[in-house]
Amino acid sequence: MYNEVIGFIRSLYPEGEVVPLYAPCFVGNEKKYLEACIDTTFVSSVGKFVDRFEEMVARYTGAAKAVVCVNGTNALHMAMLLAGVERDDEVLTQSLTFIATANAISYIGAHPVFLDVDRDTMGLSAEAVKNWLATHAGLKEDGCYNKTTGRRIKACVPMHTFGHPVKIEELAAVCEEYRIELVEDAAESLGSFYRGRHTGTFGKVGALSFNGNKTITTGGGGMLLFRDEELGTYAKHLTTQAKVPHRWEFVHDHIGYNYRMPNINAALGCAQMENLERFVADKRETAEQYKRFFAGSEIEFFVEPANCRSNYWLNAVLLKDKEAQQEFLAYTNDRGVMTRPIWRLMNKLPMFAHCQTDGLENTAWFEERVVNIPSSVRLDK
Ligand SMILES: *Cc1c(COP(=O)(O)O)cnc(C)c1O
Repeated sequence: MYNEVIGFIRSLYPEGEVVPLYAPCFVGNEKKYLEACIDTTFVSSVGKFVDRFEEMVARYTGAAKAVVCVNGTNALHMAMLLAGVERDDEVLTQSLTFIATANAISYIGAHPVFLDVDRDTMGLSAEAVKNWLATHAGLKEDGCYNKTTGRRIKACVPMHTFGHPVKIEELAAVCEEYRIELVEDAAESLGSFYRGRHTGTFGKVGALSFNGNKTITTGGGGMLLFRDEELGTYAKHLTTQAKVPHRWEFVHDHIGYNYRMPNINAALGCAQMENLERFVADKRETAEQYKRFFAGSEIEFFVEPANCRSNYWLNAVLLKDKEAQQEFLAYTNDRGVMTRPIWRLMNKLPMFAHCQTDGLENTAWFEERVVNIPSSVRLDK
């Protein structure tokens, strides 16, 4: 079976000795826009591509406003600040995520609480959040508090794992009931929609990433999505050193951040956005082929949840147990087909080992079984 898998993946990605897990795709105006930056000398913090990129992403996602950042991690940091998370608050999130989600919470001095994911989404479970809050939380005049630790529970950060949308409306309802801010880590889900609405636009703030391995790339980059235009305008101010506009004076009215994406990266982003729908269509076609190939075999292909259109950022298969997972990883990587296990769980890392968790039953089940398989866009092939 594993040998057939190798053959099939190589038929999808025939070029090169090693099939990478993910390689970026440049088939549009990338060079032209980069050249325009260099020719005009506008490569840095000022330039027309920044505004254009923000407008393109806002229009595509339906956000009232979009604000660029230097990367997805500092977009998440900013999202925590904008959600009003403060030192010693608690923030509910999933243990099954990339480290950036938990790091962003920690930059504020807040404490992540790691809760379970759903089996059909691999993302934060509304039921798990509801159950945990029913046991641990109490509402007070000024918000939701953890009855055991005494800390305020300020925000909840679901992550749309591998581009598959979580049950975001159910999570939004639980958060509303407990007066907790909803922040979406949509780093992996540009191009993914839940009931026709783009991921990252349900919460107070959503964060995207344009790292080299994401669905579109700006080299490095991130973006904040807002439903509230005014909050977006404030985010723009904070991410650009909180400088008060003036023709020559240097006056700043907050402790700001230098989180603005340079024009040269935004130029790449504009060119990539022009092809986003083609990329997603291509990725969904690849996923469809994987799905057909694995149907009826001992390896299960993970499909998009109900009521969603997933971008299938990273395709994932489920092996029958940990032993099979390790065998499959060794077999494929030994033969030049790059595959990777899912991230080591946050609560198993030394920095977060002391954090509160629930039973993490589905989380542990996924950790032992998930393997990501090559998922690059194939348009240039
Ligand atoms: C990629 C990613 C980020 C942000 O990563 P950057 O490399 O900083 O852009 C955040 N969260 C998740 C889940 C990610 O996959």
